[in-house]
Amino acid sequence: HSKRIGGDRIDVYKPAMRARKTDRLTLESELRRAIERQEITILYQPIVRLEDRSIAGFEALSRWDHPKLGRMSPSEFISIAEETGLIVDLGMFVLDQTAKQLSVWQRAMRSREPIFASVNVSSRQLLRHDLIHDIRTVLSRSSVARGTLKLELTESLVMENPEHAAQMLTRIRELGTGLSLDDFGTGHSSLAYLQRFPFDTIKIDQSFVRTTSRGTRPVILKSIIALAHDLGMDVVAEGAETDSDAVELYQMGCEYAQGFAFGEPMDADAAMRLLTEVRLEAAS
Ligand code: C2E
Ligand code: MG
Ligand code: MG
Ligand code: MG
Repeated sequence: HSKRIGGDRIDVYKPAMRARKTDRLTLESELRRAIERQEITILYQPIVRLEDRSIAGFEALSRWDHPKLGRMSPSEFISIAEETGLIVDLGMFVLDQTAKQLSVWQRAMRSREPIFASVNVSSRQLLRHDLIHDIRTVLSRSSVARGTLKLELTESLVMENPEHAAQMLTRIRELGTGLSLDDFGTGHSSLAYLQRFPFDTIKIDQSFVRTTSRGTRPVILKSIIALAHDLGMDVVAEGAETDSDAVELYQMGCEYAQGFAFGEPMDADAAMRLLTEVRLEAAS
């Protein structure tokens, strides 16, 4: 009897797998076209200063508005873009659009400390492409305040080729670009080791930020914050979903947070409205 079930299972799976394979090829060529036609939407999620809950900056997060499948999240297309090399063009598009958007925001709120914008970078862009040239081009096309365009790179990316990554990152830093270590804690390297890379900020992964099933914060959270400060880095907590997340993070000495507690990723106009509202409120 169990054999028959197994047999049925195989029959059901085979065509499904084939279908998925075809989809993958179709998706690849559709993604290539979407990037050429600039049909990638960039959303921006606020990163908030916990001290006064003002907006310190935004992280750029890509979405693909597929004609048939609807809005697709990065988990559905970034790996395709990486494997096919399309990530180089996609990455340049996101960098360029974000820098232009950042100039617009900074011009609109000239009187305050300039906000920053950060862009996620994949391994292929840093290690197998002339990212420095792209950054130069983008900076020359926009007028963002020095140091306010930032890149986010993960621990596993820099550990792929630590020597080369360290060299590239040092040169990128010299162009006046900020560097954030993304998803910290999900890799296996120590913060002391990562000190040899010129990061100015670490973003603590959401798995360390949220309360555990027992309702407590992971013990290590407080130590990561303290060590990052000892190493001269700013700390952003990812995935702050509730007000008590924000309050406790601030008590632990964390200066910035990002998460649904403060705003989901939003389009550029909504981000502008948010900045303007905050300004009006502060002015009255
Ligand atoms: P990430 O860089 O760690 O970005 C943070 C992710 O957490 C985003 O997911 C964001 O929407 C989500 N998030 C923010 N606040 C909360 C919260 O309070 N709770 C929960 N549960 N999630 C929250 P998203 O937009 O789906 O992006 C996923 C990942 O895809 C990003 O992780 C980043 O690694 C990658 N990615 C996104 N856009 C790009 C891009 O333009 N280029 C590259 N190379 N990677 C990108
Ligand atoms: Mg990121
Ligand atoms: Mg992250
Ligand atoms: Mg993440």
